[in-house]
Amino acid sequence: MTNILASLNCRDEHHLIIGVSNVATLRINSILDAGAIPILFTESGEVSKVEESEKLKTITGKFEFDTIRQLLISEGRAEVDFIVDRVFVALPMSQARLKKSIYDYCKKNRIPINTSDSPDLSTFTLLSTFTSGDFQMGVTTSGKGCKLASRIKRELTNALPANIGDICDKIGDLRKKIQEEDNLELEDLKNSDHFHSIGEHDEDAINTSKLNALVEEFNMTQEQKKLQRTRWLSQVVEYFPLNTLGELSLDDLTSAFHEYKAGAAETDEPEKKKQKVVDSKKGSISLVGSGPGSVSLLTIGALQAIHNADLILADKLVPQQVLDIIPKKRTKLFIARKFPGNAERAQQELLSMGLEALLRGQKVVRLKQGDPYIFGRGGEEYNYFSERGFTPVVLPGITSALAAPVLTNIPATHRDVADQVLICTGTGRRGALPNLPEFVKSRTTVFLMALHRVVDLIPKLIERDWDPKLPAAIIERASCPDQRIVRTTIENVAKAVEACGSRPPGLLVTGYACDVIFKHNSETSEPWVIEEGCETANSTHLEPFLKLVSSYNPEDISKPSIHQTPPPEPLATS
Ligand code: SAH
Repeated sequence: MTNILASLNCRDEHHLIIGVSNVATLRINSILDAGAIPILFTESGEVSKVEESEKLKTITGKFEFDTIRQLLISEGRAEVDFIVDRVFVALPMSQARLKKSIYDYCKKNRIPINTSDSPDLSTFTLLSTFTSGDFQMGVTTSGKGCKLASRIKRELTNALPANIGDICDKIGDLRKKIQEEDNLELEDLKNSDHFHSIGEHDEDAINTSKLNALVEEFNMTQEQKKLQRTRWLSQVVEYFPLNTLGELSLDDLTSAFHEYKAGAAETDEPEKKKQKVVDSKKGSISLVGSGPGSVSLLTIGALQAIHNADLILADKLVPQQVLDIIPKKRTKLFIARKFPGNAERAQQELLSMGLEALLRGQKVVRLKQGDPYIFGRGGEEYNYFSERGFTPVVLPGITSALAAPVLTNIPATHRDVADQVLICTGTGRRGALPNLPEFVKSRTTVFLMALHRVVDLIPKLIERDWDPKLPAAIIERASCPDQRIVRTTIENVAKAVEACGSRPPGLLVTGYACDVIFKHNSETSEPWVIEEGCETANSTHLEPFLKLVSSYNPEDISKPSIHQTPPPEPLATS
């Protein structure tokens, strides 16, 4: 059984601490930090540093039940009839009987009580906490081990960016600003269902599938436009690597949004820039696939390109693990500001930035999630740069479409089950549904960019004679430590997405191959089964290798030349 974890607003409350000890000192500090008033009841009147605080009221007397009971009902705030708001008991073991009496009294009178080292004499316990600005994190093992909780907290803290408090402040400021501006515009929406998404701002409820609902770039209704900014921010928070959020300034985010809102879309970079291709030192560009997420799925070629670049233009989907290996001192990193609804504009910004760097003679790496030519606009980018005199070198990457099934124990092809694999999209041009594939029994189909559309997509597939019982798997953040797999059948996919929320990026795999290793249908009667985590995501064992690669200078080794031979003349046919 678990407890409900809550964060308590204790502003101006009166908290009674009974007994002096190290723990009591810690509690007094926490109470003061939370803006409440600590009242220390001590027999000895021992003086510690905290006790000297002006805000601490100290009462001395005998540790007797009647005296303490009197304090419990007289030291509180007038507005709650002088009953104290919370009690912390830090008495020695020898006071076991007194502690039990205090606990029984508090419980009966519904005064929350915590007794040190005695979960059975507490109505609430404290977590091992980490605080940075307004960011707070608490860990509990439900009384199984306080040292362990503290160790786990430390490990989690180390995994966070050092400026996590600043990140919260920045996002909080921006959210407030957007809400203030939108409140003016939203007056007329207040009665619509959209507006009344109860609980949307509760911190335990944000993982709803609505977060990832499609923000259309074109044909938006007036309502969609108005609510778009809040969703835009939610998606930035969900997709962008945490560290990057910390580096973005409030101005960056605001101006990116305002630029986009103004919609002053340049369709192409100014003509004069096109003409700037000069004969001086020419830059070079490579389109590099970064794999689905884990560093272990980067190719050696990609690693080398990353370590040699002057400028890396990355997608927002390229995960933190991969961005972390970029040598920050010598390489500039820019992440495409593809916020919902401004994909075209952000793409143009990125291309122009690449071209400018090339004209300055720099080595540019366009780092793309997965494989550059699988739904990555890689072909367009290739044409863009080569038309301007910079022919890119293209390095393939492991596509999520094929890696995700492997990481999920789905053999995409399997004798007598699946003899073909189809990779397709769930989102067509301008947000419309794409041309959907017909049902082929022996085919494994991988839908990318589809999870936000499943409500529309699946009925259309079933209309096209797809088997509603066809096994399926939703695979999110494949190869990352927070990978999640939801195994189900296509008729339950939409319900599963609604119930489990979204953890982008994610894809959908369908086909009988999903059941070859994990037999979902026969092993469980549940409509879906969730698996968390990815065994191979941890890349710490790769560190020595990564160091080696970063110290290797390919300039020392003569490069093999790549000759492009013209295609052979077609054979004459008669
Ligand atoms: N070029 C990429 C695909 C870009 S389209 C590739 O080859 O993988 C973006 C879509 O890829 C996302 O909407 C999602 O469907 C899928 N995707 C990318 N990375 C993923 C990952 N790690 N896990 C699951 N799906 C992923």
